[in-house]
Amino acid sequence: MSQKILIIEDEKKIADLLREYLENSGYRTDWIDNGSLAVSGFKKVNPSLVLLDLMLPGMDGIEVCKELRKISNIPIIMVTAKIEEVDRLIGLELGADDYICKPFSPREVVARVKSVLRRVFIEPETRKLVIGNISVDLETKTVTVNDSDIVLTPSEFNLLRVMMSQTNRVFSRNELLNKVQGYDFDGYDRTIDTHIKNLRKKIRSVIPDKEIITSVYGSGYKFNHPA
Ligand code: CA
Repeated sequence: MSQKILIIEDEKKIADLLREYLENSGYRTDWIDNGSLAVSGFKKVNPSLVLLDLMLPGMDGIEVCKELRKISNIPIIMVTAKIEEVDRLIGLELGADDYICKPFSPREVVARVKSVLRRVFIEPETRKLVIGNISVDLETKTVTVNDSDIVLTPSEFNLLRVMMSQTNRVFSRNELLNKVQGYDFDGYDRTIDTHIKNLRKKIRSVIPDKEIITSVYGSGYKFNHPA
């Protein structure tokens, strides 16, 4: 059975275009045009991924995302009309997996959908983030690498969780700091380096042959897909 993509978008023309491209790529689709119907529709449709427009009648995309995150950990791609909005959205810690700016090419959307579905395999019941041989349990806050448990501090755990939510994407120190604040993070900008250093050391003790977290000179850090 092919995966189902739920499109929450109030403009019919855009929704139709997305449905056409996604269905041509082998996905099934469903469409909801009002934010206030999103949560009940989501439960009914039970999709594999949600494409969520930011500006919606009824309830805006930010609120919808928060509501969906209370009941599900499935991938959500937010669609916004402004590139400047993306930083703010990331800062809000909505738990979206990716962001797409309008106007977009439908081909790009299909590529992002594929990439998000590929890189994040989530078991909805256990709220587990599994990428390659690294598994992060968001409930018990435990991390397993190559079947060995590794013990992380809360700061290390949250840094790993954030970077794993978008593999191969570079996070600046500032962004990491913003994203892990409120999660018992002890420190400021530069202490990120120390936490990352310790985190890398712990992962390296189990995966010695590949650098999973790398620093990008002048930019920040990224989590490399281990596959
Ligand atoms: Ca809209």
